[in-house]
Amino acid sequence: MLICRVFVVTPFAQNCRLLYDSESLEAVIVDPGGEATRLLTYINDNGLTLNSIWLTHSHIDHCGGVSQFYREFDSKISGDKPPLFGNKLESEMRGRIGDQAKMLGIPGGMFENCPEPDEWLEQGTLVELGKYSFKSLFTPGHSPGHIAFYFENPKPGVSGNEGNKWQIDWDRGEMPSESGNSPLLIAGDTLFQSSIGRTDLPGGNHAQLIDSIKNEILSLPEDTKVMPGHGPDTTVYAEKSSNPFLK
Ligand SMILES: [Zn+2]
Repeated sequence: MLICRVFVVTPFAQNCRLLYDSESLEAVIVDPGGEATRLLTYINDNGLTLNSIWLTHSHIDHCGGVSQFYREFDSKISGDKPPLFGNKLESEMRGRIGDQAKMLGIPGGMFENCPEPDEWLEQGTLVELGKYSFKSLFTPGHSPGHIAFYFENPKPGVSGNEGNKWQIDWDRGEMPSESGNSPLLIAGDTLFQSSIGRTDLPGGNHAQLIDSIKNEILSLPEDTKVMPGHGPDTTVYAEKSSNPFLK
């Protein structure tokens, strides 16, 4: 089964996700925005092997914890450093995290510049978690190189496939656990429950964001579980039918 453990981290309440295969115990982290110790304790306690780290985008709350995570990984876990995956278009942003933290008056050390990715993500790049494959969707607008990750999960009954069961658990019980076998989308800061990503930060573009949401996200199957970077999960159907920003 595919497990998605959600850690709501830092004062930004960013949904950092640890995805893992409950059988092989292979894991990936999406957007380690902070609280590295908490993430590594969970990884250690559950005997997980971290394969890679994926970034949806390079705002402080999503990638400002990567450097610290790697340092603690080195001291707490033996084994190879998991490679970082991100979009080339946001290189400059990743080098400004430290300055941004200072500007926002955030105490030193909580957020740092993010290292350059080892592998690039662009439209259609497939990223793997063991037997599960996620497709990168280029979804700019909230940030210039934003990526969402789509797990298609073939429908039960189609060509004999049973569909893959998943379970979503919130680390501190912020939301009830949920399970299913629908497609999944890790949406970053594109689409939220009844809202959309902000576009007033540098590199933001409202028209581009609406295009990304309509073309790349609302075109997915309606039962797709949408897992945003902040707040509760939703579905393509729910946002298509009632999101006030998409009327
Ligand atoms: Zn953001």
